[in-house]
Amino acid sequence: MKKLQLVDLKTQFEKIKTEVNESVLNVISSTAYINGPEVKSFQKEFEEYLDVKHVIPCANGTDALQISLMALGLKPGDEVISPSFTYIATAEVIGLLNLTAVFIDVDKRNFTVDIDSLRNAITDKTKAIVPVHLYGHCANMEEIMKVADEFGIPVVEDTAQAIGSNFTFSNGTTKKVGTIGAVGCTSFFPSKNLGCYGDGGAIMTNDDELASKIRMVSNHGQTKRYYHEIIGVNSRLDSIQAAILRIKLRHLDEYLAARNSAAEYYNKAFEPYKALETPIIEEWSDHGFHQYTLILHGVDRDGLMEYLASKEIPSNIYYPLPNHKQGSFKDVYEERVSLSNTDYLTERVFSLPMHTELDNEQLEYITSSVIEFINK
Ligand SMILES: *Cc1c(COP(=O)(O)O)cnc(C)c1O
Repeated sequence: MKKLQLVDLKTQFEKIKTEVNESVLNVISSTAYINGPEVKSFQKEFEEYLDVKHVIPCANGTDALQISLMALGLKPGDEVISPSFTYIATAEVIGLLNLTAVFIDVDKRNFTVDIDSLRNAITDKTKAIVPVHLYGHCANMEEIMKVADEFGIPVVEDTAQAIGSNFTFSNGTTKKVGTIGAVGCTSFFPSKNLGCYGDGGAIMTNDDELASKIRMVSNHGQTKRYYHEIIGVNSRLDSIQAAILRIKLRHLDEYLAARNSAAEYYNKAFEPYKALETPIIEEWSDHGFHQYTLILHGVDRDGLMEYLASKEIPSNIYYPLPNHKQGSFKDVYEERVSLSNTDYLTERVFSLPMHTELDNEQLEYITSSVIEFINK
């Protein structure tokens, strides 16, 4: 059996190696390293894939979030709502810009923004809402947009884990996540559903004015060369990464399908076990399965992790500490904020290897090992 990894990037690379090598070498010999034609082409192809007017590539997903909040013109003290149950980057940029983070709860079954919690958190200082499509599952964008539109608040979607996932509205129309709110932010970190071979990110919007502001912020606040209207940052996707992403974008739907088949295998194997609550897919969402995450009931989680590790099966907890209890935020929020579903999930979530290259032999070995442990 192939050695198990949380993410197997090597086997995936082997399948596109010739194409990737050729196109990386082409960029190197072209010397168009910064904002070269590969970046422009990727931008266009990604716009087409997502069916969005503007893609603005940038250096990573964290920058995408930061640039979006800067482009929206938020000022210190403005409140930005985000779920606590997510990766730190979502909250970090809020803190970095001296904005006031307002942490809300997530739904107990789909891991994304709880709509009542969102509604209750709105004040007259709320200037942005940042939902996260966690693990590849879409947050309930229809309800989020209803709340946001009612109060005139822009939505910045964090779609770092869910690029390519489709949201279906109650009238039957479908959109890719990241193209529904005012702005979408994504990451091309290697292990993401669309990952490059280094760092990368992108910002999506259908708003022309906002798009030019985002371009300005991400390029030193520059309007024309050497004229800097506002304080910006320097955040670019490099040409080599763009060349790799162009190749991988053509495989994205096939990659998402492979993740879904692995998830189906897991679901089927775990279905009879009450101790293992398998991930749901809401009717409005399809799933990118960036992570395959179980909710454990009455299972010694550390024990299970150790047992699997002893059998060379890696596993992980995304995330062991919610953002409102992290170092930088805990003094302000830990006592004040009570997020019961976030606490509940933090104690119970458990993620198994998930990537595009899992074969049945590996899946059989993983699932039977998990079941062995809970039957002990
Ligand atoms: C990975 C990730 C980010 C940050 O992306 P980087 O490219 O690593 O900066 C932001 N939000 C979420 C939810 C992520 O998973």
